[in-house]
Amino acid sequence: TKTDTLLEVNNIEVIYNHVILVLKGVSLSVPKGGITALLGGNGAGKTTTLKAISNLLHSERGEVTKGSIVYRGERVQDMSPADLVKKGVIQVMEGRHCFGHLTVEDNLLTGAYTRTDREVAKDLEMVYHYFPRLKERRKSQAGYTSGGEQQMVAIGRALMSRPETILLDEPSMGLAPQLVEQIFEIVKAVNEKEGVTFLLAEQNTNVALRYAHYGYILESGRVVMDGPAKDLRENPDVKEFYLGMS
Ligand code: ATP
Repeated sequence: TKTDTLLEVNNIEVIYNHVILVLKGVSLSVPKGGITALLGGNGAGKTTTLKAISNLLHSERGEVTKGSIVYRGERVQDMSPADLVKKGVIQVMEGRHCFGHLTVEDNLLTGAYTRTDREVAKDLEMVYHYFPRLKERRKSQAGYTSGGEQQMVAIGRALMSRPETILLDEPSMGLAPQLVEQIFEIVKAVNEKEGVTFLLAEQNTNVALRYAHYGYILESGRVVMDGPAKDLRENPDVKEFYLGMS
């Protein structure tokens, strides 16, 4: 294990419903302080990989049947999502998942359950610093905010647990290009200024490779290519099959 590697996924296999083999030996490593992108088309296995890491597959009848997942040198495969949060790893699920009936601010506060009051006030200011829009909207019911604002709430809530690593699933989904850019700018700022490590799943290869440092491309449950983002951006196959599309 290299000292700067936070998360290591070693050759994992995932099976749904005891029969459907979806991940066929996926390996990746996430360095501390980086933005790592998990790329690939619809159904390639990106969400499944993130859920395998944060142990969220059970509710979908999915199971890691081979390989290992290691965080800071410790096997975390059988750890509950809550225990993983205590270790510093939190997932922001695809589709944003706010509590629609709560205000924006109360949504953010639900992310702070492990913290003391004084820290919470400070962390709320930290989130509002990165998401000034959420400060303006803090008294609004989250269910009535825009898709972009709900994505901000979801990321902001994750930040309230002061994570070391955020697993971010498809942040661009359903958002207008300008908003996608805005979300990625914030991810970049949080990464650079707060030192938060990101592993993000994205179908939008174009934007992801402009913000990530390193990328893995998944196809049908296998990593078919990986490399520094700038190399992938210039790779003819990536250009032809992925960059044209988004
Ligand atoms: P998307 O961007 O659509 O989320 P993805 O790359 O994240 O795509 P996954 O959601 O991980 O892909 O899905 C990978 C494969 O696993 C797909 O073929 C999908 O149909 C299948 N799959 C996902 N969830 C289940 C499930 N609960 N039961 C059976 N098969 C599933």
